[in-house]
Amino acid sequence: MRDDFDHGPDQDPDPDAALDRRGRHAADGDAARPDGHGAATAAEDGAGTPAGHGGQETPTAAEGPLFKPETPERTDLIAPGVRGVELELAGHVYDLRRTPVPGALIEFWQCDQNGDYDTSGFSLRGHQYTTHRGAFRLRTVIPRDYWGRWGRRAPHLHTRIHVPGGPLLVTQLYFPDDTQAYGRDFAALNAMDPLIDRACTLTLTGPLEGRYRGTFDFVVRTGGH
Ligand code: FE
Repeated sequence: MRDDFDHGPDQDPDPDAALDRRGRHAADGDAARPDGHGAATAAEDGAGTPAGHGGQETPTAAEGPLFKPETPERTDLIAPGVRGVELELAGHVYDLRRTPVPGALIEFWQCDQNGDYDTSGFSLRGHQYTTHRGAFRLRTVIPRDYWGRWGRRAPHLHTRIHVPGGPLLVTQLYFPDDTQAYGRDFAALNAMDPLIDRACTLTLTGPLEGRYRGTFDFVVRTGGH
């Protein structure tokens, strides 16, 4: 629900505008990245790539055995009974020319604060479509590490992105080493995860009032480029 993301009357309901107003914290590559408005304007005008920076394609990762199709369409994965450190994640889907991709299907699934996946229902699972500016947002909780078929897994979010006309991107998102949740040592967990790809680490701010805000931009291959 949109209301869960907007924390004051001054917040613009558009996710891009809200992000810009809050100010995006420094992330690697942010300086070279067109801001949300510039990118969106270029896309809306059909003007092409603003700054001439080629995108670094988001790396793929194993889907794992616990994906489920036909999840509810929603941006809020925190259902009653889910307890954990809250995470508000926002970002965009870009093509390789850094043009925002509207209407991209994004599926998220993850384990809970105990390291358990819901395999009988759809807790902490959902799908959504990017806005006309290629934006998405997600309200969820930080997952916990767990022991899986590949060894101990650092906390991660699973995601699949399907751009109309493009190939399916399957990947996993990770948390910075200084993330504080569940008394776990994220630096150690990240270091021991055999599957981790640091290029897929969220940029986080917080915790503030027990909640983290995160950003991540996907760069995906589309049908044309
Ligand atoms: Fe997993």
